[in-house]
Amino acid sequence: MVGQYDENLLSDMLPLYYSKYFPVKIFCRWLSCGNSPYPLCNRELSFTLADDVYLRYISISDQKELQTQFQKKCPHKLDIGAVYFAKPSIARHDSVVLARELVFDIDLTDYDEVRTCCKEAKVCEKCWKFMVVACEIIDISLKADFGFQHVLWVFSGRRGIHCWISDYEARILDTPGRGAIADYLCLIMGGENQSKKVHLGNDNLHSSIRRALDVIDIYFEDILNEQEFIGSSDRLKAFLKLIPDDTLRNQVEKRLEKLPESSLERWKNFVAVYDSFSRENGYAMRKMKYLVEEIKIQYCYPRLDINVTKGFNHLLKSPFSIHPKTGKVSIVFKAQNAKNFKLDEVPTIHSLLDDSTAESVEHNNNMKSAVKHFQEFVFSLEKAEAMRRKTDASKNL
Ligand SMILES: [Zn+2]
Repeated sequence: MVGQYDENLLSDMLPLYYSKYFPVKIFCRWLSCGNSPYPLCNRELSFTLADDVYLRYISISDQKELQTQFQKKCPHKLDIGAVYFAKPSIARHDSVVLARELVFDIDLTDYDEVRTCCKEAKVCEKCWKFMVVACEIIDISLKADFGFQHVLWVFSGRRGIHCWISDYEARILDTPGRGAIADYLCLIMGGENQSKKVHLGNDNLHSSIRRALDVIDIYFEDILNEQEFIGSSDRLKAFLKLIPDDTLRNQVEKRLEKLPESSLERWKNFVAVYDSFSRENGYAMRKMKYLVEEIKIQYCYPRLDINVTKGFNHLLKSPFSIHPKTGKVSIVFKAQNAKNFKLDEVPTIHSLLDDSTAESVEHNNNMKSAVKHFQEFVFSLEKAEAMRRKTDASKNL
C-alpha cells in the first residue's frame, strides 16, 4: 500500500530499483533515437539528490554509464532536457539547443477551479477522469490534426500526465512552432477573475472541437455528478455567471433554484430552458449559439501548462523514474487504456521491491506491461527513424 511508503527509505531502495527495474537499455535507445543524428551524450539529464541538491547538465554516453551514475549518485528525481549542439556540461551550458521531443504537461492542480473532490496534490479516481478526457482529446488531435505517430503517454507519478512526441518533425520544431500547436490545443482562456473562459463564436465548429466534444460527452454526466459542478448555491452562482444573457440567466436561475441539489438534474433543466429560449429568441442566440458546448469545455477540456510545451529546453520528469513524494513509478500507458488506468494499480518502489506486500504480484505484472509497451513504442520509433535516414540519404545522392 502507498501508506507504507516512506520517503526516508528512498535512498536505500533506489539503487536496487535502478539496477533491477529501471529499463536502462530501452530508455537509452529511446533517448538515442530522440537525439538522432546527434550522439546520446548531447542530451541533458538532471538529477535531484536526496538533500534536494539539483544537478543539471548531466550527460551520459551509454547505458553502462547511466547505470554507474544511478548507483553513484542515487537520484531521487530524474528529469530529461534537450539535445544540445555539444555535450552539455556545467562549464558550457550555453551551447545551442538543437532538438527535443514536443511535450505536454497536464496537472490536476490546474483543474482546482472545477474539481471539487480534491485540492492541490491530492488526487482520487473521481478527478482522475479529467486526465482520461485530456489524454483522449490530445492524443487524437496530435494524430489526426498534426499527423504525429509516436506519441508516448506517461503518468507523472502523482497528479498528472505527460505526453512526449518523438516524431522527427516534432523534435526539431522551433519555439514558435511549439507555441502554435499549444495554442491550437488551448480553448480555455483567462485567469481567476474571468468567469467565462471559453468562446466558440457562432460559425460552424471546427472538426477538432466537435471531436473533443464527442470525447467529453462520453464522460460528462459522470464527471458532472461526481464533481457536483452545480450542486451547491455557491457553485450554482458561479455556473450562472457563464450565461451571458440576462433574461436567459434569470430564467435558468428561477428553474434551478427550485430543484434539489443534484447537478445532473440541474444540468438537464438548464439545457431544457436553453433549448426553449433559443427557439423563441433567434437573434439573441447569436451570442450563445454554443453555450452548452462552451460550458462543457470549460468544465472538462484539457488544461495545459503551455509554457512546458513552448519551452525548448524545459526539463520534464523521466518515464519510469520514481516520484519522490508518492514512491510511484512514472509508468507509460496507452492512450486507449487511459480509461482503465487505476491509481492504486500503479507500481510503487515499495511494492516492487518488497514481495511480501499484497500488491506485489499485480504491481510487478503492471510494471512488466508498462516496460513492454515502452519497448514497442521505441521499436516503432527506431523503424521510422531508420526509414527517414534512408530517405534523406537517397535524396542526397
Ligand atoms: Zn479527487
